[in-house]
Amino acid sequence: MQIFQQMTDMEHEQLVFCHDKVSGLKAIIAIHDTTLGPALGGTRMWDYDSEEEAITDALRLSKGMTYKSSVMGLNLGGGKGVIIGDARKDKTEELWRAYGRFVETLGGRYITAEDVGTTPEDMDIVSQETDYVAGLAHLSGDPSPVTAYGTYVGMKACMEHLTGSDSLQGRCIAVQGIGSVGYALCEYLAEERAEIIVSDIYPDAVEQAVEQLGATAVEPDDIYDQECDIFAPCALGAVINDASIDRLRCRVVAGAANNQLERQEHGEQLRERGILYAPDFVINGGGVINVAHEFHPSGYSRDLALRKVDTISDRLLQVFAVSDEEGIPTSVAANRVAEERIRSIGRIQRIRV
Ligand code: NAD
Repeated sequence: MQIFQQMTDMEHEQLVFCHDKVSGLKAIIAIHDTTLGPALGGTRMWDYDSEEEAITDALRLSKGMTYKSSVMGLNLGGGKGVIIGDARKDKTEELWRAYGRFVETLGGRYITAEDVGTTPEDMDIVSQETDYVAGLAHLSGDPSPVTAYGTYVGMKACMEHLTGSDSLQGRCIAVQGIGSVGYALCEYLAEERAEIIVSDIYPDAVEQAVEQLGATAVEPDDIYDQECDIFAPCALGAVINDASIDRLRCRVVAGAANNQLERQEHGEQLRERGILYAPDFVINGGGVINVAHEFHPSGYSRDLALRKVDTISDRLLQVFAVSDEEGIPTSVAANRVAEERIRSIGRIQRIRV
């Protein structure tokens, strides 16, 4: 694996390998870009098949965090930690404390938080060794409800762009993945009296959505074929791909999942099919906004965080405007908006006092 070549291609600043022989910690911290501020991004614990896979994940996810924070107007760069291990079996106090000590050595260049396979409680242990950790249980906690709220706000912006009204009442929305974000999203949709279609590979949450929220359940693979206003991927990445794209019978793709497009060209294909795509790293920015608010000068406030999450609507409308003006897919327009802010803030002259 050509690590420096990958870092050059993706424009990373730093890649840190962490090993602790007592706890067995094997972690990789990728810092993508700190032009706007310290690199914030959660730590993922995953049983990777190979070290190459773990490195690639850290590089890819940290770059995504740079773009997400930039587009949301946060003064943060992008970073990500990955721990190689099984989150169900390998978590120990020693592991988290060893990891916290490595995060501390970076002196604040990287701030960690929870992610797939890690919890606010794990981060509480990390915080015994470093101040550079967010998403703590007694502060912002689980980001999923806030991510769901941001996704709901983003869906309303999509409908406003298409129809001039942001109302979701009576609109049909097909939600793929009824997990932490998907279920909370369905609660917002039910409150606004949208028509909800749900699918998940596990029946429990689907049954709950049917019973409690009046949703209609479909088999996981049938979700792509549903005639609806909005298809909301809230499970896995890469669900917009060669196999699924022609099956979609929606006007909008707007969901919380990361990396929804399998390849960049799928953004162009959605545009050609007249389907409005809400770029994932814009519409799912609620979680990072929530975590970042732990560093607000007046301390964490859920209300302040939610008011900032409301700006997802403006960001999406800005991205759609760039897409329309320049005749480019919304996915490319979102990258441009993010890159332009990094470029322009990075160019402001330093003034000696
Ligand atoms: P989760 O694990 O709680 O939920 C995911 C759900 O998707 C699970 O119920 C799972 O059974 C289901 N699923 C898996 N494969 C499926 C398939 N083929 N068809 C239908 N359902 C399937 O995860 P989450 O925290 O709700 O996150 C959902 C997505 O949003 C992920 O892609 C995540 O990376 C992204 N995201 C989450 C946050 C957050 O704050 N949690 C923030 C940003 C992005």
